[in-house]
Amino acid sequence: ILIAIDGIDGAGKTTQVNLLKEALEGAGETVVVSKEPTDGEWGQKLRDSALVGRLPRDEELELFIRGRQDHLNKKIIPALEAGHVVILDRYFYSTIAYQGILVENYESIVGHIRANVIEPDAAFWLDLHADLAVSRVTARGGKPNLFERQEDLAKASEIFRAIAAADSALRKVDATMSPPLPPRISLRVK
Ligand code: C5P
Ligand code: MG
Repeated sequence: ILIAIDGIDGAGKTTQVNLLKEALEGAGETVVVSKEPTDGEWGQKLRDSALVGRLPRDEELELFIRGRQDHLNKKIIPALEAGHVVILDRYFYSTIAYQGILVENYESIVGHIRANVIEPDAAFWLDLHADLAVSRVTARGGKPNLFERQEDLAKASEIFRAIAAADSALRKVDATMSPPLPPRISLRVK
């Protein structure tokens, strides 16, 4: 089973990923947690760029896409084949939202981004207002990085909203509350 937790920075993805992992392990599942961008070659280059300077738009997009293929081949697919539950802290929805704001119409890059991915069995969008996102990011780690500008997060949120409206597979969760209270994610395991 492949589960994706997505949303803008500060929405609580990592917190919910870990809570879900504990819950599923409590139910006897073997759970593999992973994140994008990864700590691999491509992901690390992207993380570095958040601190020192964004890459050219097309190069950045290609790094996300290539990094995801590598992530799928080396980690996600083998874990699924072994029968594990895989929970992703960001997946292709983030690429559509974050890189979609750099082009005139995000829909123009959706086909490219979604080609050759494995569709998740469940996907959640943790919806948070960009102002609150920036204040959470600032509270936890100081200065927001180059990907975490309020205007950009607001635009990325609008794309997440549009994707969720068009694709019922991406389910919206209100992420305004603080942990350990919900955002509640209830999952019916097949
Ligand atoms: O999820 P995490 O915060 O670790 O992601 C690292 C950085 O990459 C974040 O600042 C996020 O805004 C950015 N990012 C991005 N485009 C994506 C995914 C993440 O700009 N497709
Ligand atoms: Mg972040």
